[in-house]
Amino acid sequence: MTPYDPAALEEDIEVLADWLARAEVVAPFTGAGISTESGVPDFRSPGSPWLANQPIPFDVFIASPQARREAWRRKFVMDDLYAGAKPGRGHHFLAELVASGKAPAIITQNIDGLQQAAGVPADQVIELHGNGTYATCLDCGERHELAEIRPAFEATGEPPACKRCGGIVKAATISFGQAMPQQALQRAQALAEESDLFIAIGSSLLVHPAAGLPVTAKRHGARLVIVNREPTPLDGIADLVLNGEIGTICMQLAQLSGDEGRGID
Ligand code: NAD
Ligand code: ZN
Repeated sequence: MTPYDPAALEEDIEVLADWLARAEVVAPFTGAGISTESGVPDFRSPGSPWLANQPIPFDVFIASPQARREAWRRKFVMDDLYAGAKPGRGHHFLAELVASGKAPAIITQNIDGLQQAAGVPADQVIELHGNGTYATCLDCGERHELAEIRPAFEATGEPPACKRCGGIVKAATISFGQAMPQQALQRAQALAEESDLFIAIGSSLLVHPAAGLPVTAKRHGARLVIVNREPTPLDGIADLVLNGEIGTICMQLAQLSGDEGRGID
């Protein structure tokens, strides 16, 4: 790893602020690293609670009531780990970027809903791996609220069934072996192609097809910036790599864009 050099990082933040000011279409692409400041553990850092159990593949969830029971039990354990998490500086910075009109939407691999909690309209958050803050029926698509499911599950130990059609209800996240949401993927690809600045924030960039998006953006002529505290496999094709804390970097970017705004007045 390259030694930490605060002066170089400051300069790189200024470069990114300048690119942001000039960009016409920014595509922010976020991973679990943007939410660690909010207390949501990321996936691959040491001691990850997400890796404590073997994942339950989608086909097993469908086939086995026992697997569904275990999946729901684990889900509520994880939910309790970060209950009450609030958006952090990264989420707020990106919310401003959307509000300013520079970023048409935020592409995210996260399932925590924190980008919406920071004020971004739900239709401007492109969720590639779904959303863990509610559930859906796999048969009819009916949305179910966790606040209703949880007490019933805890009282009976039975996994929930759809109140409309009796079908299998699952957290609205994408499990291993489950098809990616095609519409979200297409929207993400279109934004990557259209963008002139693509910023990957807090992702190890190891999970495909999501990790293909920065490559798509780059191929279509965008500048590629990676913000992460550790190296990623795509650093070599990036125009700029900022290795540091996301919250601090975003706070500095917000200050720089504020200064520039005042300069124009
Ligand atoms: P990842 O855990 O593989 O990578 C996160 C990266 O962010 C790591 O490289 C880590 O070093 C870096 N990081 C963590 N905190 C940081 C900080 N404060 N500043 C700078 N860098 C920081 O996450 P991923 O690439 O998003 O892939 C994980 C998968 O697991 C995703 O598909 C996602 O669906 C799921 N997941 C989601 C959440 C969530 O919604 N918050 C949390 C865990 C896992
Ligand atoms: Zn149903």
